[in-house]
Amino acid sequence: MQIKSRALITGAIFTLIALTTMQGYLIFNTYDLKKKSFAVESRKKIGGIVKTSYVDSLSWNYRMDFVKKIPDYKSGNITKEELLLTLENAAKARNDQFLEYYKQGAGHFNLNENVLFNKVATTIQLIDKNGNVENLIDESKNEQVFLIGTNFPFYEGLLINNWNWSFNEEFINSNQENDTIIIRYRASLYMKILNWDKIILKQLLLLFFIAFLLLLFLITLTTYSIRNLLKLKRVSEIKTDFINNITHELKTPLATLSIATKTLTNKFAKDNKDIAEDSINTINRQNKRLQNLIDQVVDNSLGYNDIKLNLEEVNLSAFINEVCDDFYLTISNNIQFIRDIDNTEKQILIDKFYFSTAIINILNNAIKFDGTILKVKYTLSENNHIISISDNGIGISKKNKKLIFGKFYRVSEKNIHNYKGLGLGLYYCKQIIKAHYGTIDVESKEKEGTTFYIKVPVNDRKENFISR
Ligand code: ATP
Ligand code: MG
Repeated sequence: MQIKSRALITGAIFTLIALTTMQGYLIFNTYDLKKKSFAVESRKKIGGIVKTSYVDSLSWNYRMDFVKKIPDYKSGNITKEELLLTLENAAKARNDQFLEYYKQGAGHFNLNENVLFNKVATTIQLIDKNGNVENLIDESKNEQVFLIGTNFPFYEGLLINNWNWSFNEEFINSNQENDTIIIRYRASLYMKILNWDKIILKQLLLLFFIAFLLLLFLITLTTYSIRNLLKLKRVSEIKTDFINNITHELKTPLATLSIATKTLTNKFAKDNKDIAEDSINTINRQNKRLQNLIDQVVDNSLGYNDIKLNLEEVNLSAFINEVCDDFYLTISNNIQFIRDIDNTEKQILIDKFYFSTAIINILNNAIKFDGTILKVKYTLSENNHIISISDNGIGISKKNKKLIFGKFYRVSEKNIHNYKGLGLGLYYCKQIIKAHYGTIDVESKEKEGTTFYIKVPVNDRKENFISR
């Protein structure tokens, strides 16, 4: 049972962790896929906006402004930087127009406003009629001229595509000759998605929520099952313990009964009046003992609802003193019995029989579990009668303190197996005190001792008692 339930719990926790990991992995994959599909979709939409004759003519115009300046460069009137600045400025001059157009297109295609676009020139080569190539900007050196859109560094964006263009420009060179130059031009289109994670997370919010709920459900289910399993395990242990104890308790009287009956059946004993009487007495005693044992199991198993109280008005100070007097007669001389009982006039409604049973059960435990100094204290507070019973016995561990009031529960550590009992005493105490609308608590330290507190609300009128 021990190993089996441990294996089951480990299995359940392992499965839970595995499922959670798998769920996390699946969610991450979905997130990744969603991110990719969002990028593809945005790229398609941007294509729809910028691949139009309007944008083409816009681009043509700034390129032409640039091309027209090439002869000036070739004849040495302007520098390379000034020439490239022409292109940049010509594009810039048209950027507002483009951005306005892009915004409208984005609205039309339902493109997320966080998706930015830019276009940069990445290669410009001038090739003269002798085939000499001059690189104005060189892609391999990451040289770029920003053209239109929103200016962001290319490494922050995603490449949409590249676009090549070539053009023959004829002009009159510085020697007043007809000359021609080939322009090779390449532009790259980029997009950048701002707050990319936020957009995707927003789209996956429902999925996250459902996954979270499922996980929560799973954890609750597992915890509940494990708890149930442990409870069942404890019940089964308690059952085994109880059977062992009761069998042990039954053994002695049964053995004695068997000897006594054997003696009686013996012819010699039958004729001897003294022996016969002695045997009959033994049989009676053991019979009574068996009867008591059965009564103890039956009576002490009652729940507080089944306890029918026969209420009497009692002065608790006097009553506790009486119970202590009777109890004192039953204990051995080496036990120190201290009383600290407030003298009060207050009356309380209790069932004397049940109430004394509860107190005596606790006192018996105090002696049984090695107490040599016992102390009974009674005080009356504004709202409660408080009875505390302390001992200096073996004490109770923190874990067991919560359990000892359970039916048949006995502390089953190896070293305290020698204490006899059925584990019913404290359960019965609690039911009795509960039937009086009171509470019972325990404070204890292992190897130092234990104190039980019984608190019963002040009540001096029967009507109040019953109506509560
Ligand atoms: P029963 O009372 O039915 O003969 P029991 O004394 O074992 O058997 P309870 O009186 O219900 O059962 O007590 C439950 C358990 O609580 C005990 O088995 C014991 O381990 C622990 N216990 C109770 N009182 C004390 C005490 N004063 N000191 C140490 N342990 C205690
Ligand atoms: Mg007991």
